[in-house]
Amino acid sequence: MDLKKLTADLEAKNPAQPLYIQAAKEVLETIVDFVNENPKYDKYAIVERILEPERIIKFKVTWVDDKGNIQINRGYRVQHNMAIGPYKGGIRFHKSVTEDTMKFLAFEQTFKNSLTTLPMGGGKGGSDFDQTGKSEGEVMRFCQAFMTELQKYIGPETDVPAGDIGVGGREIGFMYGQYKRLRGEHVGVLTGKGLEWGGSLIRPEATGFGSVYFLEGMLAAKKDKLAGKRVALSGFGNVAWGAALKLTELGAKVVAISGPDGAIVDEEGINTPEKINYMNELNQTRNNVVAPFADKFKSAKFFPGKKSWETKVDIAMPCAIQNELNGDDAALLIKNGVKYVVEVSNMGCTADAVTALQKAKVSFAPGKAANAGGVATSGLEMSQNAMKLSWSAKEVDEKLNGIMNSIHANCVKYGTEKDGYINYVKGANIAGFIKVAEAMIAQGVAY
Ligand code: GLU
Repeated sequence: MDLKKLTADLEAKNPAQPLYIQAAKEVLETIVDFVNENPKYDKYAIVERILEPERIIKFKVTWVDDKGNIQINRGYRVQHNMAIGPYKGGIRFHKSVTEDTMKFLAFEQTFKNSLTTLPMGGGKGGSDFDQTGKSEGEVMRFCQAFMTELQKYIGPETDVPAGDIGVGGREIGFMYGQYKRLRGEHVGVLTGKGLEWGGSLIRPEATGFGSVYFLEGMLAAKKDKLAGKRVALSGFGNVAWGAALKLTELGAKVVAISGPDGAIVDEEGINTPEKINYMNELNQTRNNVVAPFADKFKSAKFFPGKKSWETKVDIAMPCAIQNELNGDDAALLIKNGVKYVVEVSNMGCTADAVTALQKAKVSFAPGKAANAGGVATSGLEMSQNAMKLSWSAKEVDEKLNGIMNSIHANCVKYGTEKDGYINYVKGANIAGFIKVAEAMIAQGVAY
């Protein structure tokens, strides 16, 4: 493959889509040598084909607010690649959502889902709907209007959405109810469902737990241990919550979290059920701020407008949104002696941050490997739905742990460099690529 030409084409074909270009470039740059060593991938134009989503669905969502006014939002579903299984991936409701956001997330999802070992293709959906200040009735009507259109394109064997930023158990419930109402079917068309109606134990914790299982692999590869390590997290949603729970259980100390309004630093550790659950409570009140954390807990200090990355830590785990950790943040973390950076948000680090961390030989895990526990457990929810039974928390957690170990092993297999440094970005991209590419070759092209 000709990296220069492919990159130029990518940029020309996707004008004004910087996130998609960033995500795709990172993959191209890390798989180029591997692809060139295996000419069959060029023969079947696999890379060029993976760069084009199979389908982009874009629709209007109209709904009525509490005052009786008609509101208009944009809805999307990008069905990126179905080679290894039905499209699978979350739905994001956030004011920043554009076609570009959806394309980059769906692209990442294809590689991530391939890494999970489960048969799931890649997709992503969402809307620019902003929950801030909306009543429960407004959220419900929006979710129903969104699903009224989306249901035309999804199904348990074709495309199975789930949650993401702004879409938790409540929104999944409202969307599932509308799907059921319109289609008259109680099927596994969404994951992240409530436990009483087809959901899986451990799904809420899975992304955070999985990222810590992956981190344990990174530590073990360096003959290091988690106990006693200082950790900074960003975000205070479901993902950061699950990570804080597991980190604390395994003896690490979470000293920082953050929100759009600033950072919370707590030298005593965010380590009691009361503190950890309050993160979730703050998130669920949907005011989008962490400042009240410092009012509630005396040991916590609030730094307005600051990020978690200014705190001296051994481990940094961005858990909020894309490009939340930039080159300056990486330089500061490196200066303060960070050893591990685990991207738990999708593409949480800018390209220059990743380059700086790798250059400093910091152990860096990309989101598509480290956060795959969420979608992997969604895959386990699909299995339980298909078998019409439910597994115990222990069974699901063990399977999740096994999947994260296998992703780690695959990253080591394809990402270890001559000097022994594990390039997890390269490892994850090559391992994710192989499975999808082989399936595409096997399934042929339509003439
Ligand atoms: N939104 C999550 C992700 O980025 C989970 C997707 C899913 O469970 O389908 O992978």
